[in-house]
Amino acid sequence: MRVFRPDHGLPPFSSVLGLPLIATVGKVVVSWNGTEVALRRQSTRSVSSRVVKLTVLGGCGAWPAADQACSGYLVEQEGFSVLIDPGYATMPRLLALARAEEIDAVLVSHGHPDHCADLNPLLRARALGEARPPALPVYAPPGALDAVLRLDERMLADSFVLHDLAPSRELEIGPFRLNTWALPHHVPNAGLRLSGAGKTMAYTGDTGPAGTLVDLARDADLLLAEATYPEEVPEEDAPYLSTALQAGRTAAAAGVARLLLTHLWPGTPPEPALAAAAQSYSGDLAVASRGVTVRL
Ligand SMILES: [Zn+2]
Repeated sequence: MRVFRPDHGLPPFSSVLGLPLIATVGKVVVSWNGTEVALRRQSTRSVSSRVVKLTVLGGCGAWPAADQACSGYLVEQEGFSVLIDPGYATMPRLLALARAEEIDAVLVSHGHPDHCADLNPLLRARALGEARPPALPVYAPPGALDAVLRLDERMLADSFVLHDLAPSRELEIGPFRLNTWALPHHVPNAGLRLSGAGKTMAYTGDTGPAGTLVDLARDADLLLAEATYPEEVPEEDAPYLSTALQAGRTAAAAGVARLLLTHLWPGTPPEPALAAAAQSYSGDLAVASRGVTVRL
């Protein structure tokens, strides 16, 4: 069992001193605090053309915690930047890494606001800022963004181009190939499989159990998996949400190289989730939190 966590291998007093905290374990770089984010601001725009880099903006389920945004993931390759799930409070984290006009496409797994609310400030920054970039391609299940796009409807009408994400589709988005799966949630949810530079990452969005999760994740270099609870989902939500235990089983069955657990319930410590996933998954394992980066 190999478990990586933000405090892995670091002297406990480093955070008290406010020093940059960076831990490199294998190919997974774990980092956090404001100083390190500032350093990364320069490095993020010079991602090697053959590297796919994922940066976690936030990984909190449901609502943002004091120090943790909701779901938000920046994926970069060949100078092309895809923002996946601009959830609550992800916009400030994004702007610490890139300018609003540098985002080339947005993918939204489903229409719950913890996955798409900060699309509004992103579009505002593009529409009202000086750069005035072209309309932003936004991909989401049909109707998923109706509510958030009604905010500032007229003002932002020209700032985006909306594309429906239908199940079982294949799309080219910049240097990436995107495949989608319909997965069970309270609202239509698209599982996303993004491939580029010979690397593949799979993302579940929010989902209940589904046999197709193994297809979504098969042989991926990274599986980013919703794991709201460590071992058991409350009965009423069991068809629509997942556990770290289930994510570990999926990762093992699909043969993925790394598993990043995300969407933990606010205030939930990472340890029980890591332990639950490690019951069946023996590869690289971590919990998504602000500043965690993965280079594929
Ligand atoms: Zn959610």
